[in-house]
Amino acid sequence: MKILLTGGLGYIGSHTAVEVINSGNEAIIIDNLSNSKIEVLDKIEKITGRRPKFYQDDVCDISALKKLFAENPDIFAVIHFAGFKAVGESCKEPLKYYKNNLLSTLNLLEVMESYQCKNFIFSSSATVYAVSEIMPLEEDFPLGASNPYGRTKLFNEEILKDYQSAHPDFNVILLRYFNPIGAHESGLLGEDPNGIPNNLMPYICKVATGELDHLNIFGNDYKTKDGTGVRDYIHIMDLANGHIKALEKMTKENVGLKIYNLGTGTGYSVLDIVNTFNKVNGNLVKYEFTSRRPGDIAECYASPSKAEKELGFKTTKSLEDMCKSSYQYQKQNKK
Ligand code: NAD
Ligand code: UDP
Repeated sequence: MKILLTGGLGYIGSHTAVEVINSGNEAIIIDNLSNSKIEVLDKIEKITGRRPKFYQDDVCDISALKKLFAENPDIFAVIHFAGFKAVGESCKEPLKYYKNNLLSTLNLLEVMESYQCKNFIFSSSATVYAVSEIMPLEEDFPLGASNPYGRTKLFNEEILKDYQSAHPDFNVILLRYFNPIGAHESGLLGEDPNGIPNNLMPYICKVATGELDHLNIFGNDYKTKDGTGVRDYIHIMDLANGHIKALEKMTKENVGLKIYNLGTGTGYSVLDIVNTFNKVNGNLVKYEFTSRRPGDIAECYASPSKAEKELGFKTTKSLEDMCKSSYQYQKQNKK
């Protein structure tokens, strides 16, 4: 089956492309390289022995999408990763975020409709959940994003729900990712943010290689086991596998609209991550406690039960695996 991955050269898309190919499918990628590099295509080929058909185009350019579908009229499903994802930037440049993250989805739906392509998997996020005292988060908990990036995810979910309800034979799976970290075991693919990283694991990796001096831990006075923030970190290969499970479900049945959390169900604190990283990679990461980061919450972790029950999704990688593979990638790809 032909699977179109938008943003397929990015962090999550590239690992998923590997799994799409390894599961016997053909991967087609559209990416405008706004946050990725063309070399990733060679690396996917190196790992899988197959070079995905690649379109260096913008999903917001509908004529490019029409051309892509005209050349590949038999695409079975679209996995829509393409989008901007930096929360801070989205507060400064909300229009940039609304335009890219919403128009891309609208264009895809329009072109998919004319080619009778009826399966859509969307990269949503734990950020769509309203702040909750109750953990773990279940899929039917109240929604409410707190920044423009989060709202683009929420609005996309609403658009896809409306579209699906108007077209009952169209299938949509919304995957709400928790915190993906880690890298492909080859060390060829991983997370490679530009500039100083905002997210915890890329920051830790740059401290470990000496590119940054120390980690600032944002707050040690949360009501958590050690005072630092707790998140549900999921290995990128487990996350990639979640997409294969979603695709499998779509080949077996008319799924309608389904929503699944992709997380492990276990919350780890910032100190858990630093300590595990130091244990498996050598004592490389110094840290200091600083004030809380505005907008952060104390705890956020998933209930993975629905994905487990309905998709057969089960994570297999440990926190040690996540820390080891993240650092291996960083060392191999130090700039
Ligand atoms: P990423 O930035 O590494 O990958 C996104 C890719 O999309 C990049 O290669 C970029 O060049 C491409 N792209 C962006 N806009 C495009 C456009 N208009 N046309 C074509 N290509 C375009 O991000 P990622 O971490 O791989 O995230 C993938 C998706 O998952 C995003 O939608 C993101 O919001 C979502 N998500 C990510 C996380 C996370 O922690 N990484 C968590 C929850 C949800
Ligand atoms: N964090 C930190 N220092 C950093 C980056 C992140 O202490 O330099 C903390 C952050 O406060 C949160 C956790 O690490 O508790 C995960 O943050 P990240 O930005 O990776 O993910 P998100 O906040 O989106 O869940």
